[in-house]
Amino acid sequence: MNNVNRIKQDNLCVQCGVCLAACPRKCISMKKDGFNFCPEISDDCVNCGICLNVCSSTKMFDFDLSENFEQIMAGKVLNVFSVKSSDKTVLKNSASGGFVTKVVQELLNKSMYDFAFLLKGYDYDVQLETQIFDKNSDFSQSQKSRYLTVSHAQTCEYMFRNPDKKIIIVATGCALNGILNFIKLKKLKRENYLFLGLFCDKTMNYGVVEYFRQHPVSIGKNISQLFFKDKRAGGWPGNVRIEYDDGSFVDLPNTSRMEVKDYFILERCLYCLDKLNRNADISIGDNYIEKCMDSEGANSIIIRSVLGQRVFNEVKKCFLVEENTLEDLILSQRIKDKKLNLEFARFKKFGINSENNDFLSFYQEALRKREIVQHKDLYNSIQKDLSLQKQKTLTKVKKVKFCGLTIFKKKEKNKKIYYSVLGIPFKLKKKS
Ligand SMILES: Cc1cc2nc3c(=O)[nH]c(=O)nc-3n(C[C@H](O)[C@H](O)[C@H](O)COP(=O)(O)OP(=O)(O)OC[C@H]3O[C@@H](n4cnc5c(N)ncnc54)[C@H](O)[C@@H]3O)c2cc1C
Ligand code: SF4
Ligand code: SF4
Ligand code: SF4
Repeated sequence: MNNVNRIKQDNLCVQCGVCLAACPRKCISMKKDGFNFCPEISDDCVNCGICLNVCSSTKMFDFDLSENFEQIMAGKVLNVFSVKSSDKTVLKNSASGGFVTKVVQELLNKSMYDFAFLLKGYDYDVQLETQIFDKNSDFSQSQKSRYLTVSHAQTCEYMFRNPDKKIIIVATGCALNGILNFIKLKKLKRENYLFLGLFCDKTMNYGVVEYFRQHPVSIGKNISQLFFKDKRAGGWPGNVRIEYDDGSFVDLPNTSRMEVKDYFILERCLYCLDKLNRNADISIGDNYIEKCMDSEGANSIIIRSVLGQRVFNEVKKCFLVEENTLEDLILSQRIKDKKLNLEFARFKKFGINSENNDFLSFYQEALRKREIVQHKDLYNSIQKDLSLQKQKTLTKVKKVKFCGLTIFKKKEKNKKIYYSVLGIPFKLKKKS
C-alpha cells in the first residue's frame, strides 16, 4: 500500500486535507469516521505515492537529535517579541493579541498580498475548512482559536490553479509542513506565500463539540456557536462560551475544556515536536511571558525568515512591541514538557520497550481515554471517569483523633499531604 491509508492506519493523520489536493487522479475524499475526518481512497488509486510524499506525517520521526533539545524545538530564530494590536476592535475580538488578524488586514490593504486563507464561523457540523479572504472580508468571523482539525485542501487547490497569486496562509505546524511539501511537489514559488504559523500544543477531534452538546447547560438547546477560549468571558486567557439558537449563551470556566481535552486529542499530537511551528515565516502564540501579560491579551511571536522580518517591519507600527529573549519564550511555553513527546515518538518509531514508567503509563492512559470516547453517553462517561481518576489519586487516607474530632490525613500520588476535618480541607504550616 503506497498511499495515505498507511498514515490513517498508523493513527498519524491530522486531517489537513493536503493529500486530497495533491492526488493527480482525484481519488481522495475526506470522510467522517466517528469524530474524525480522514482521507478515503477510491478504487482509482494507482499507488503512485504522491499523497504519501506531501503528507507531513510521513517524515515526522526524522529528527536530528544530536542538537540540544530546546534548540530543536525552537528552530531558526531571528527575533522574539511580545506584541499587542493597537487596533482595539481587533484586539478585543482576538484569541490573544490580534497579531494574526492585524497583519493579514494590513498586508491585504497595502496590496502586498492578494488573499488570505482563514477560518470562518464557529459552528462545527462539518469539518472546518479554510476560506478565501480579501481586504473587504469580515475578519471578525475569522478570529479566535479553534482547537479542532482543519482542512487546507481548498487553500492548496487555489494555489495550484492560481500560481501567481500572493497568498497568506495561517496554519498549525503539521498542516503548514504539508502545504510546504505541496508547494515543492507542484513547483510553486515559495516567495509567493507568507506562512503565519500558530504555536500548537495539541488539537482535538470533533468529539469535544459533541461533549459540549451533551453538557447539562446545553440540554434542550441547539448550539449555534462554540468558542473554545473567549476573552469576552472573563478577559484573557478567556473561558468557554457556548451560544444557542435561541440567542442565549453560557460561559463555562476554561478548566471545563482543559480537563477533557486529553480524551479528544489526535494520537499524532502525542509525538509532535513542532509546537513552535519551526518552518513558518513568523510563528505566533499566546504570550505567557509574565512581565508582558495582562487581561487584554498579547502574542508571543518568533520572526524566522527574511520574508518574516520584511513583513514585520512593514506592520510593526500597528502594534505595541516589546523584545523578549528566546529563553523567556521557551520557559513560558513549557517546552521541556515536550521531552515526553520525544519518548512517544521513539516508541512509535522503534516499538522498543521504554524504561520510562511515566511514558508507559501515559501511553496506556491515552489508549484508555480513547475507549471512553466511544460511548454514546459521552458527557456522563467522561465525568464518571474524571471523578474515578480523582479518587484514585488519593492513595492513602489516615484517620487521626484529635480533641474528639476525626482528622483525615490524605496523601496523594504526587506526595502532597492534605488534612481535613468535618469535610473542610486545611494545610499544616511548618513552624519557622
Ligand atoms: C490548535 C491550536 C493550538 C494552539 N496551542 C497553542 C499553545 O500551546 N501555546 C500558544 O501560545 N498558542 C497556541 N495556539 C495559538 C493561539 O491560540 C492563537 O491562535 C495565537 O496566539 C494567535 O492569536 P491572535 O490573537 O493573533 O489570533 P486572532 O487575531 O484571533 O486570529 C486567529 C487566526 O487563527 C486562525 N485559526 C484559528 N484556529 C485555527 C486552526 N485550528 N488552524 C488554522 N487556523 C486557525 C483564525 O482563522 C484566525 O485567522 C494554538 C492555536 C491552535 C489553533
Ligand atoms: S496529508 Fe493530511 S489528511 Fe492526508 S493523510 Fe496526511 S495528515 Fe491525513
Ligand atoms: S497513491 Fe497516488 S493515486 Fe493513490 S491516492 Fe495517493 S496520490 Fe492518489
Ligand atoms: S500538536 Fe503538532 S501534530 Fe498536533 S495539531 Fe499541533 S502541530 Fe499538528
